[in-house]
Amino acid sequence: MNTIIVNPALCTGCGACYRACFVDVIRWNKEKRKPEFPYIKDCVQCGHCEIYCLTKALKLIPDYDSFMFPREVITTNIR
Ligand code: SF4
Ligand code: SF4
Repeated sequence: MNTIIVNPALCTGCGACYRACFVDVIRWNKEKRKPEFPYIKDCVQCGHCEIYCLTKALKLIPDYDSFMFPREVITTNIR
């Protein structure tokens, strides 16, 4: 499964990662002003959340063996 790690020391609570995720993997904890990832299984590995995190607090660790993009599909389509 994909993994997302947030470094709390770098997270400013800006919400950019939450707004960047178009498949609603990321939810926003209003009280803590931090992102949460209850639906990480639905992550499509687009990387938008990481790109939009300007402080580099958020790191996406894609699982390329997950169902979305299995490694054999990726490698067999490389010419
Ligand atoms: S990589 Fe894309 S789909 Fe996955 S949590 Fe980030 S923005 Fe959402
Ligand atoms: S974009 Fe980065 S700094 Fe902003 S809330 Fe998300 S993890 Fe925190």
